[in-house]
Amino acid sequence: MVTTKRIVRWETYNRDKNNMIASHLNGYWTVLSFGARKTRSKKNSPVRQYRVSKDETGNVTCTCEDFLKNNSVCKHQLAVWMKARQEKKQEEAEREERVKAAIARW
Ligand SMILES: [Zn+2]
Repeated sequence: MVTTKRIVRWETYNRDKNNMIASHLNGYWTVLSFGARKTRSKKNSPVRQYRVSKDETGNVTCTCEDFLKNNSVCKHQLAVWMKARQEKKQEEAEREERVKAAIARW
């Protein structure tokens, strides 16, 4: 596995980021994708679900075809990464609020 040759799907991510929901549960990430591009039948749910996980060596994997075929950093991984970053920021902001509140009580 040559990491430097990986394709990073920023374009696809930016195009589809509003159609994806990343959520963290039971130690791994699940990305729901609402893109209906390839689905012709309205009976079939256009929602697809992918699992993004990180192994103990730090390798991030996804269950989608793009990742399995091309070993790319797919849009799901990017969605998870952005969400994790966002959550971290939020946590930090909340912590800062608590510190400020604590200081204000002194
Ligand atoms: Zn993927």
